Amino acid sequence: MCQTEKWKQSSIRIAGIVRESIVDGPGIRFTVFCQGCPHGCKGCHNPETHDFKGGYDCSIEKLLHEIDKDPLLSGVTFSGGEPMCQPEAFLTLAREIKKRELNIVIFTGYTLEELQSMADENPSIGELLLFTDYLIDGRFVREERDLTLQFRGSGNQRYIDMNLTREAGHIVSAQ
Ligand code: SF4
Repeated sequence: MCQTEKWKQSSIRIAGIVRESIVDGPGIRFTVFCQGCPHGCKGCHNPETHDFKGGYDCSIEKLLHEIDKDPLLSGVTFSGGEPMCQPEAFLTLAREIKKRELNIVIFTGYTLEELQSMADENPSIGELLLFTDYLIDGRFVREERDLTLQFRGSGNQRYIDMNLTREAGHIVSAQ
């Protein structure tokens, strides 16, 4: 269960950032690794991001300042940890990223269906999904680990094109 402060919006609890990643979605990306994850997937590659009390608070303004410094970016990736445990803060960041015409990739341990159901309780999750261009969803399942998959660790996870999915009204995989 998520344990972060529910309405915090001006900062994100993060584990770290990567400035020019080529492994966290299409193109060159600024990746925000948030802190705190409730899923406990066996074989997780980022166990240091699980503790909700770990990491540090980073202001959204500071993240945007770093993003604005790099003209090569295709977009920004929210990874973790579990970004959907801090939907209000990530929504604030997402709104600003969209003003800059950058795309947004979110890695989440929840499935899209779980998030849609969670959005009934927390509208920020639904709004954040509307800003998402690509979603990599689902927990990491060690038994289904597959190194050949693009941007994913295990076969159960999906790389979803959210724009085409919204248009079609059913899940459309990204290429
Ligand atoms: S959802 Fe991601 S960060 Fe969380 S335990 Fe699973 S693999 Fe690790």
